[in-house]
Amino acid sequence: MFQDPLNVPRPAFLEREDVRMFEDTVRAFMAKECVPNAERWEEQGMVDREIWTKAGKAGILCPSVPEEYGGAGGDWGHEYVFHTAGAEIGAAGWGVGLHNSIIAPYVTHYGSEDQKKSVLPRMISGELIGAIAMSEPGTGSDLQSVKTTAIKDGNGYRINGQKTFITNGGSANFIIVVAKTDPSKGFDGVSLLMVETDKVEGFRRGRLLDKVGMKAQDTAELFFEDVWVPADALLGQEEGQGFIQLMQQLPQERLQIAVQGVGAMKRALHETINYTKEREAFGRPILKFQNTQFKLAECKTKATLAEVFTHHCSERLMKGELDAATASMAKYWVSEAQNEVMDECVQLHGGYGYMREYPIAKMWTDSRVQRIYGGTNEIMKLLIARTL
Ligand SMILES: Cc1cc2nc3c(=O)[nH]c(=O)nc-3n(C[C@H](O)[C@H](O)[C@H](O)COP(=O)(O)OP(=O)(O)OC[C@H]3O[C@@H](n4cnc5c(N)ncnc54)[C@H](O)[C@@H]3O)c2cc1C
Repeated sequence: MFQDPLNVPRPAFLEREDVRMFEDTVRAFMAKECVPNAERWEEQGMVDREIWTKAGKAGILCPSVPEEYGGAGGDWGHEYVFHTAGAEIGAAGWGVGLHNSIIAPYVTHYGSEDQKKSVLPRMISGELIGAIAMSEPGTGSDLQSVKTTAIKDGNGYRINGQKTFITNGGSANFIIVVAKTDPSKGFDGVSLLMVETDKVEGFRRGRLLDKVGMKAQDTAELFFEDVWVPADALLGQEEGQGFIQLMQQLPQERLQIAVQGVGAMKRALHETINYTKEREAFGRPILKFQNTQFKLAECKTKATLAEVFTHHCSERLMKGELDAATASMAKYWVSEAQNEVMDECVQLHGGYGYMREYPIAKMWTDSRVQRIYGGTNEIMKLLIARTL
């Protein structure tokens, strides 16, 4: 049973009755439906399709979608507890955080009434699984250089290009594609197009990518060959808005990564404190060695600072005041701290820390990507440095 190893008070946005109730529902769902399947999902490289519809029935998908589109009308508090729950109880491999907190908000913020009414209820039920396809084999950090095009063709667009590293890529049937509607331009030629893969021809998935961690997540390559979508697939009704839309939404994505990092650090501490209390060397539990205590004290301090800062950023996000640089600080600093904590916790497990049957080993490999995706930490520093 997971016990929070930190002593950080819950801020008001997490203390609300509706958020508490939602958190209990999510934790119970994950304990029943995800944890027992986690190992099998890792072996098969993806979660079962049914987990999405089960989650839809349990009412935990896309919690912040407004009620008029079939949602629960929640806010970041609901999203926040979802991310920490997954990380803390060991259900981190399921790409639902992206579906809930990244894909749905794009539709909510930029979709037309018709788009919202069509897409959001199906995301909430789990009929649609969301993904966002930005990265390409030739470009990740430098998004304005994407080569995928969406060129006007009749009353619609024809999409051509290749994407890679796409989370939920093996299963998603609702993909927001970053493409150039005007390839002669840089960032102001970029648009976002919504592709329902079941409704188009020319879309193909590549292999599931063989990652070092996050094994249950179906990260994949995607191919678009003359895929035609109707004009209303354009998100935001105006071409060339994609880069601005991405920049507006990325702070929330980056904060999400930080929140997951806090959850992971807490779980690592919980596991390692328990392990070092039980494991003995030289006739005493290894927690009795001052080195063990000092290392765990350092880890606890880092996790505490990370949690306090993610609370601060969350409060700013909920007021509409979270700027790109501050969100970048959260993503960069927390993910670095997370990797340091994981590494120490593996060390304190000795040889067992390197065995995948121990949670800490998986958490260590899962954590590495936090410094890479969502914009690398170097790109985070670029964004922070612009404010100097
Ligand atoms: C598991 C996983 C899931 C992912 N999920 C998704 C997803 O769902 N959708 C999606 O679109 N993408 C996804 N990605 C891709 C991810 O966002 C990119 O890998 C990331 O943005 C980096 O891009 P890149 O791999 O092309 O690296 P590059 O851009 O080639 O960078 C290589 C190195 O150069 C550094 N660098 C680049 N530019 C600069 C600069 N100006 N100054 C200093 N250093 C620089 C980088 O920081 C990095 O260290 C995922 C990746 C992984 C591994």
